Amino acid sequence: MYAPTGVRTSTDFPIPDTMKAWVLGDPGELLLRDKPVPVPKKAEVLVRIDAVAICATDLEIIYHGPPALILGGMPHNKNFTPGHEYMGTVVALGPGVDEYRIGQRVTVEIHAGCGQCKRCREGMYTACHNYGLNYGDVDKGHRANGFTTDGGFCEYQVNNINTLVAIPDAMSDEEATLVVTAGTAMYGLTELGGLVAGESVVVTGPGPIGLLGVAVAKALGAHPVILTGTRDNRLKIGRELGADHVINVRRDDAVAVVRRLNGGKGVDYVLECSGAPNAVNEAVRMVNRGGKVCLAAFPHEETPVDIAEIVRNNIYVYGIRGEGKSATHRAEAFMSQKRFDATKIHTHTFPLDDLPTAIRYAKDRVEDAIKVVVKARGVSAAHKVAAE
Ligand SMILES: [Zn+2]
Ligand SMILES: [Zn+2]
Repeated sequence: MYAPTGVRTSTDFPIPDTMKAWVLGDPGELLLRDKPVPVPKKAEVLVRIDAVAICATDLEIIYHGPPALILGGMPHNKNFTPGHEYMGTVVALGPGVDEYRIGQRVTVEIHAGCGQCKRCREGMYTACHNYGLNYGDVDKGHRANGFTTDGGFCEYQVNNINTLVAIPDAMSDEEATLVVTAGTAMYGLTELGGLVAGESVVVTGPGPIGLLGVAVAKALGAHPVILTGTRDNRLKIGRELGADHVINVRRDDAVAVVRRLNGGKGVDYVLECSGAPNAVNEAVRMVNRGGKVCLAAFPHEETPVDIAEIVRNNIYVYGIRGEGKSATHRAEAFMSQKRFDATKIHTHTFPLDDLPTAIRYAKDRVEDAIKVVVKARGVSAAHKVAAE
C-alpha cells in the first residue's frame, strides 16, 4: 500500500503502489506499462488523473520529439510518459502542503519553473532559464509535465502546487482539461500583449487555441473579433464562441477583408494559430501600425519574413510556448462564470486504454475531431463517447 514518509493520504482515496502508464518508445510508438505511483515532495501533491486532452504538441512529441526534452535530449525510449492537458483529483499531499485538500478537483497548467532564475522570479516561468534541467548534477527542479518530466497519459502524476487550478463541481472533467488551452490564449493576449477592452483582434487558424482565443478575446471585451480559417464547420464554431466575423481564406483575401472591416487600418492584435507558411507575413499585414502579432503555432520549416514591413510600421512580434503568469486561473474564472462554452471544441472521449485510437482521431481528424479526451475511469472500453 502507498504510504511514503511525510506524505498525507486518506482512506477515502486509496492509492495503489503501481499504476498503468503509457510510455513513448520509438517515434510514433506508445506502450502501456506498469510504473510506480510517483511520490510528491515539498510543495507538491499527487493528482489522480481523471481526464486528459490530446494536444497537437503531444503529436509533435510522440512522432518527432521536440519540444519535449528528457535527460537533456530526445524523449524516445526513456520510459517517458507524455500528455500535458490533464485534470483530476488531489489524493495525496507532500510535506507541508495545506493549499489544497485531499478530494479537491483540480486542473493543471504545464510549467513549474525552477523558481530561482531571472524569468521565474519575474513570473515568466514558461521561459525558465533552467528549462529541462531536472536530472543528475544539473537538477534545478524545473518541471513541465509531459515535456521535461512525466505527464498525464497515466493514472497518477505529481504536480507542484503552483501548477494547480481549483475547479468547481459544476465543471465537467472534459471542460476542465481545456482550461490550460484557454489560459494559453489568455497569456498571449493579456499578460504578454496588454490587450484592453475595445481593441480589435484577428485569430488566424481555428484549432483549439485559436477557437478558445476567439472566446477569450470576446470575453475580454475585444471588438471586433475576427476568425480566419479554411473549414466552414470550424468557422461556425468560432462564431458560436464569439467571433463577430469569420473569413474563409479559400474564398476571400483575408488581409483585404480584415483591413476593410477595420477602416482600412487593420487590427490591434493578431493571434496566429495556423502555422501556415505565409501566416506571419499575412498577420503583419493585418495589424495596424504599432500593432502586435502573437505567434502561438510553430511551423516545421524556417519561414521567410518581411522584416521591412515590421520595421516600417513599428510592429511587435512575439512568441508564446504555452500558458504563463497564472493566466490559467483567469481563464478558469471566465469558464466557471460561463462566459463561453469551451466544450464546443470537445468532440470525442476514449478510455485511457484506447489512447492509440484517441491519438489517431486527433492526428487524422477522424470524424472532424477537434479536442479528443481520454479518461482513466467512467468510460467503457467498448464505445467511444461523442461530445455532449
Ligand atoms: Zn497543449
Ligand atoms: Zn526558472
